[in-house]
Amino acid sequence: MTVAIHDSRRVRHPLVFRHVQVLEVQDITPSMRRVTFGGEQLAGFHSAAPDDHVKLFFPVNGEPVPRPTMGADGIVFGEDTPRPPMRDYTPRHFDAKRQTLAIDFVLHGDGPAASWAATAAPGQVIGLGGPRGSMLIADDFDHYVMVGDETALPAIGRWLGELPAGANATVLVEIADEHNRQSFPSRANVQVTWMHRDGTPPGGGTLLQDAVAALPLPDGDVFWWIATESRRARLIRQALVARDGVNAEWVKATGYWQLDPADD
Ligand SMILES: Cc1cc2nc3c(=O)[nH]c(=O)nc-3n(C[C@H](O)[C@H](O)[C@H](O)COP(=O)(O)OP(=O)(O)OC[C@H]3O[C@@H](n4cnc5c(N)ncnc54)[C@H](O)[C@@H]3O)c2cc1C
Repeated sequence: MTVAIHDSRRVRHPLVFRHVQVLEVQDITPSMRRVTFGGEQLAGFHSAAPDDHVKLFFPVNGEPVPRPTMGADGIVFGEDTPRPPMRDYTPRHFDAKRQTLAIDFVLHGDGPAASWAATAAPGQVIGLGGPRGSMLIADDFDHYVMVGDETALPAIGRWLGELPAGANATVLVEIADEHNRQSFPSRANVQVTWMHRDGTPPGGGTLLQDAVAALPLPDGDVFWWIATESRRARLIRQALVARDGVNAEWVKATGYWQLDPADD
């Protein structure tokens, strides 16, 4: 008899705030821009899991992002300092030797992060905090199913790159159109299904829900990872855990962005 171990665990990291400088900007698809940051403050940066996130702090009116203090509950800006807008992003690739960090931004339109990324240029400086913790997902599941939209691609790409040979992964991705596909090198056995919104706005439609509902359950112990617009992530999780044979403890669903700000 095989005994399931699947020792996933959460680890905490000391919270560090850094100023990082744009070194390079590269469009990897029409709606995804890779910004590579550098700077001596990246010394000691560590990201342990592919779905880690950092907090990015963006300048307001061209003013430099102030250096905050570290409070018990996280980063604290002075009372007389305007709090810079802050958004979550995935450390796509950290090169410890060169001390560079690549982050992939979806160019979705308006928003402090997407607008900044749309005009990012070498020399600009932003603030970066974390990662504060990592969820180390066991690497002994029989199968991994990853489900997400464009915002999930940095984590999915990194995860596929880190999976060992012999691992099995099914990936369901929703993107705007075929021009926004990416290729993800992996040693694992990977099956990627790209779904195109073809004009439906992001967060609309039910492509991901339908694809997950129609997916036959893979054999063995399966870890499910879902990252997309908040409401949809919640609906996909609800439908999934109601299916016979799905272990709710092996489903991680995260809202990566909100279509409706009231939807928490
Ligand atoms: C753990 C985690 C990791 C993430 N990693 C990444 C990453 O690596 N790359 C990445 O691009 N995003 C990532 N995101 C998502 C990103 O944080 C959000 O998309 C964020 O809202 C963008 O901020 P903004 O300032 O551009 O827009 P906001 O000010 O937050 O929103 C402005 C408007 O844009 C809409 N909007 C926001 N995001 C999107 C979107 N993706 N598509 C369409 N409309 C949108 C909102 O509904 C709102 O109407 C991650 C989120 C989480 C929680």
